[in-house]
Amino acid sequence: MTSPPYDLVVRGGTVATAAGRFVADVGVRGERVAALGDLGAPPAGAKVVDARGMIVVPGGIDAHTHLDMPFGGSTTADDFATGSEAALFGGTTTIIDFATPRRGEPLRKGLEAWRRKAEGRCSVDYGFHMVMTGAADKALREMDQLVREGVTTFKLFMAYPDRLMADDRTILRALLRTKENGGLVCMHAENGWAVETLVREALARGDTQPSFHPLTRPVAVEAEATARACMLAEVAGVPIYIMHLTSARALEEVRRARERGVAVLAETCPQYLYLHADRYDGPGAEAAKFVLSPPLRPKGDDEALWRGLREGSLQVVSTDHCSFFLKPRPSRPCKEPGRRDFSRIPNGAPGIETRMLLMWDAVQKGRLSLERFVEVTATGPARLFGLFPRKGHLSPGADADIVVIDPRKPHTITAAQHHMSVDYNPYEGKTIHGSIREVFLRGRPMVRHERFLGRPGEGRFLRRAPI
Ligand SMILES: [Zn+2]
Repeated sequence: MTSPPYDLVVRGGTVATAAGRFVADVGVRGERVAALGDLGAPPAGAKVVDARGMIVVPGGIDAHTHLDMPFGGSTTADDFATGSEAALFGGTTTIIDFATPRRGEPLRKGLEAWRRKAEGRCSVDYGFHMVMTGAADKALREMDQLVREGVTTFKLFMAYPDRLMADDRTILRALLRTKENGGLVCMHAENGWAVETLVREALARGDTQPSFHPLTRPVAVEAEATARACMLAEVAGVPIYIMHLTSARALEEVRRARERGVAVLAETCPQYLYLHADRYDGPGAEAAKFVLSPPLRPKGDDEALWRGLREGSLQVVSTDHCSFFLKPRPSRPCKEPGRRDFSRIPNGAPGIETRMLLMWDAVQKGRLSLERFVEVTATGPARLFGLFPRKGHLSPGADADIVVIDPRKPHTITAAQHHMSVDYNPYEGKTIHGSIREVFLRGRPMVRHERFLGRPGEGRFLRRAPI
């Protein structure tokens, strides 16, 4: 007796890719997509999901998360268990987090520490960007080895002097090395010395409210660092990836560099598309929710970012999910206690669960085509980060990471009902015109109608291909 050709058939949905859409059945065998098209009557024994009237997309890839991240002797609110389950509820099936060695420690030690944090706890598939603060010969040799082991991207910071900041020599040496080893440098582009100076001066003047957070990280600080990063990539003759780009001016620097022939890639995040700097005008505790870096920008920048997403000058939407509790709790870093000194508020916001729905809302409102939605949430990051065609695209042979979106059932975002382990949601009360109905990771049902069906910790470490 031969086994049936499919274990699972997602029937009759509108399957969307970055290139088009069509009504089709998706046949899954084991962990992979086996066929797309009119597959006829499902074989006996196959599980059938009726997706008529639904949108079927590849599982989301969030290329920028911070789970179980150390902060002030403790950690972020979400670890790999809670963060990854929340990701699944939001239609994300793959994340790339940041392995961060202590300063002076071998990169490998950092990677091993982060693999231990995720192993057996992470419920989505995962990879790591390797954080680098120095580029001594030994670190460069480690880069080569890590690329061979599937850790192909390296995060460097132009911000946070004395903690994470890399100087121009370090950045250039890392960039030059990627020319040989096939890695890609990802950049936090804000001028750290300028920010530090502005923060010190603000505090000395007594300007300590959260409303001074964005004023000490102005757009020029981001635009300068973005331009410098692009030029260093130009000097090295390699591609570079700009993380969490927030402003029209920084995007303009990216465009200019591209016109000179520099391969600059860039992402933005939903918070820069949906939230604005007026959030800092509220009372201190409310404003503390939105203290993240780079900060939210005034209305207007978001329009440039939407245009960038539509036209392709921005390739990826990721979250920079970095959750801290708002209200004080024992031995946890919290946001509210810093309301009288913005420089003490832990930077970051939760978003791993809401990214796909917020971007879907843009499709419903005509701001983004369905194809661009698939591109920026899944196919784009898969291609840029060495996961394509296994991830980010529904086609035979790909991992059966499948999300079924119900375009008619609304979903209201609230902290009371979200699955992230944090006591507020930056999008509280926002109603999305659509909801996540089912989520499969490598063919296994993980979420159905707001219920978690997976076995926690089923996610696997992904070895990524060189760029
Ligand atoms: Zn980040």
